[in-house]
Amino acid sequence: MKKIILTGDRPTGKLHIGHYVGSLKERVRMQNEDEYEQFYVMVADAQALTDNYDNINKVRSNISEVALDYMAVGLDPQKVTMFIQSEIPELTEFTFYYMNLVTLARLQRNPTVKAEIKQKNFDNSIPVGFLCYPISQTSDITAFNANYVPVGEDQLPMLEQAREIVRTFNHLYKTDILVEPQAVIPSNKSCLRLPGIDGKAKMSKSLGNTIYLGDEPDVLREKIKMMYTDPNHIKVSDPGNIKGNVVFTYLDAFSNEEHFKKYLPDYANLDELKAHYKRGGLGDVKIKNFLFEVLNETLTPIREKRKVLEQDKEEIMHILFKGSDKARAVASEKLKKLKSAMGINYREV
Ligand code: ATP
Ligand code: MG
Repeated sequence: MKKIILTGDRPTGKLHIGHYVGSLKERVRMQNEDEYEQFYVMVADAQALTDNYDNINKVRSNISEVALDYMAVGLDPQKVTMFIQSEIPELTEFTFYYMNLVTLARLQRNPTVKAEIKQKNFDNSIPVGFLCYPISQTSDITAFNANYVPVGEDQLPMLEQAREIVRTFNHLYKTDILVEPQAVIPSNKSCLRLPGIDGKAKMSKSLGNTIYLGDEPDVLREKIKMMYTDPNHIKVSDPGNIKGNVVFTYLDAFSNEEHFKKYLPDYANLDELKAHYKRGGLGDVKIKNFLFEVLNETLTPIREKRKVLEQDKEEIMHILFKGSDKARAVASEKLKKLKSAMGINYREV
């Protein structure tokens, strides 16, 4: 089966290095492999509103920022259809019908949603729209017949929910028009859910613990200086802990042997560096300086490209509108099929 790829990001801020290793890198690889029929990348503004409905400006202003990040990392609008979720009103209609197929208890069991409710202090006043966002994500995926969805680990429960809705729908309406999607997650374990610079479980735009793709070198250096390591590793001679040490997690995600040759030739690879740290005698300043070089080398071309592209934000929006028109035509056709399958195609018979 040919791949139809769909993925997206919420315009709640600029994209960060967690997005890069968790999903963007995978997208660029898939784009360049050319093994797909269609490739959609969505700026999920409507989903972002489910917990930012009182801050429209934040969502609005970040739409072009996210699209800039897409193009800065190498997504090519000639190959990939980039669009804005709210420009496709058909998606809300999909959601309306899918809502009948999901129970409240099922939504409340979703571990990612659960964690986010806690993080956002919704307590007992959870907006219905927020709780339903996994359903709307199913609409985004199925409206385009997507079978491959490159995402970070926190999205796996959403994909599970989508597969359930697909199976329920096809079974109930005796059809096979909906396709069960499959998640594409990074093979490097450290990239599944990159922690924040504060050591918190996930780097996230909403937690303010990010390194942005466009961060200038001085900002990058400052953030690395503040980065969480091993609180018990006080003197250089102390043995250090690797587990939960953000610097090593980032090195796991980003460094390679070339980096060692170039910036830290005393060590052949990360295993040697880790062994020395564990033994004692290796200070945080040295590993942080190395991490700076590694990240700066990765981010420099992205930052430079972003600077050029941001000169013409109008063109960025034009690309998104063009993509939205193309995507809308696809979703609209699919909606007709969905309604026919359900038997609510009154004008057709
Ligand atoms: P928000 O805090 O608004 O939810 P976010 O930083 O979680 O923002 P999203 O737009 O929700 O970003 O996520 C977009 C994609 O990036 C998803 O596929 C998600 O799994 C992936 N992703 C986000 N953060 C990370 C991370 N820290 N590590 C790996 N992947 C991530
Ligand atoms: Mg998120």
